[in-house]
Amino acid sequence: MGERFRVVLIGGSGVGKSAITIMFLQGTFISEYDPTLEETYRKTITINGKCCLLDILDTAGQERYHTLESHYVRNGDGFIIVYSITSKATFSNVRKLYDLVLRVKDSDSFPTVILGNKNDLEEERDVTIEEGKELSTELGCPFFETSAKENHNIAESFTALVINLRKKLEQE
Ligand code: GDP
Ligand code: MG
Repeated sequence: MGERFRVVLIGGSGVGKSAITIMFLQGTFISEYDPTLEETYRKTITINGKCCLLDILDTAGQERYHTLESHYVRNGDGFIIVYSITSKATFSNVRKLYDLVLRVKDSDSFPTVILGNKNDLEEERDVTIEEGKELSTELGCPFFETSAKENHNIAESFTALVINLRKKLEQE
């Protein structure tokens, strides 16, 4: 049996979860993706010479926390929490979402990568890179600024998550 991980993308509406997912899967940027579409995708990747199968859940709508808790978070092996660097409100959401992960997993840490997406929109920036780094360091999560549009740090983000997932397996 090869490695298999369930990865769940969570974050505010419109931050780019679907664009990140599609760029990672297909190498294309989709500018108009149905915001209500929730889908699981599958991709095999090789990291450090070892193959691994990812089931990727691109969530849509996070207003129903109860559903989130019971399904998305409970079933996830690892999380990608996304905010947009153009929106402070979506950044404020990151801590809440990670707290939710820890609460549901009943743990004080859990494999999670934090992404500040849309970093191609420098002129609309509302969250500094330092703020992103600081929060991620405090929460103990790897951090990347990404651009789904320019394919910047997308594969790197998934790779970092898999490395964390493997670390956790080794510790168990
Ligand atoms: P979701 O609701 O989190 O799934 O967000 P979407 O992936 O649907 O993206 C919302 C909007 O932001 C769409 O119009 C995307 O084209 C746009 N978008 C997503 N990622 C980026 C990015 O990295 N840069 C720019 N400029 N726009 C992006
Ligand atoms: Mg979406």
